[in-house]
Amino acid sequence: QSFSQPRGILDRLAGRPVKTVHAVNGVSFDILRGEVFSLVGESGCGKSTTARTVVRLLEPKAGRIVFDGEDITAYSPSRMMPVRKKMQMIFQDPYASLNPRQKIKDIIKEPMLFHGTVSGKEEAENRMLRLLDIVGFRPEQADRYPHQFSGGQRQRIGIARALATNPSFIVADEPVSALDVSIQAQVLNLMMDLRDEFGLSYMFIAHDLSVVRHVTERLGIMYLGFIVEQGDRDSIFGHPLHPYTQALLAAAPTLDREKAAAPLQGDVPSPISLPPGCPFAGRCPRKMEVCDARRPSLLPVEGRMVACHLYGEE
Ligand code: SF4
Ligand code: MG
Repeated sequence: QSFSQPRGILDRLAGRPVKTVHAVNGVSFDILRGEVFSLVGESGCGKSTTARTVVRLLEPKAGRIVFDGEDITAYSPSRMMPVRKKMQMIFQDPYASLNPRQKIKDIIKEPMLFHGTVSGKEEAENRMLRLLDIVGFRPEQADRYPHQFSGGQRQRIGIARALATNPSFIVADEPVSALDVSIQAQVLNLMMDLRDEFGLSYMFIAHDLSVVRHVTERLGIMYLGFIVEQGDRDSIFGHPLHPYTQALLAAAPTLDREKAAAPLQGDVPSPISLPPGCPFAGRCPRKMEVCDARRPSLLPVEGRMVACHLYGEE
């Protein structure tokens, strides 16, 4: 199953797409240079799978991945090497993703030396110190081990490591969800500063709309492996159309309430026994007869894309 992006969205963005992804269940999006694009949904919706497929940590079973104009879908591991250093990942659990027996200076220098982004040990040392400084550490902290740092500090180390190979694209899979709320904004702000300084594009993965609200330019809402609504931040946050997006927004914490009662009823069905109609039908408060019979296509509605029988010509 596949569909193509409506030209309108791309035209508006001045035809500068550099990364196109066609992944599971017709999921399709472009991420532009310097842009933040987010995929949001509950656990099991396919967002991490999509993210890992984009950077070729998982093999795509169908579809295409285009990076900087190159179709990398079928690249062999050796052919991926020069591409790999341009696309890095930041993980949810900074502790699990840092080697506990390595000093942080070695954690940061290793990818530079492996990918040959520095000419030798001395340049690696200098670059490591500069990256540590950029993410807020003093040079003498370079000799410490991950366990000597707090969760937020470890995530900053993970960010410095991701920058080591001088990437242009970073996939951040729930980069702040393991951190205290008071630390989350600090780490997000750092990531946004780095975007400007290094000309980065980001793909953010989140289960919580409030996390991406202040950083993302465009986003896709995923449910059971499908994108159900996709568009720019103002359209989706200002006037969500899909019942699932509306439910997620209603459940997101805001300044006045820490956590609203989740209005979503029922469980997420198994993706293996996917219903023939709308994947959200079992939990949708606005379900109609047609919803069990026919799967809605993702169609342009009010300046974004929506997959729901409430909209479109049907
Ligand atoms: Fe709800 Fe029907 Fe829309 Fe699915 S297609 S989200 S069940 S109204
Ligand atoms: Mg995940």
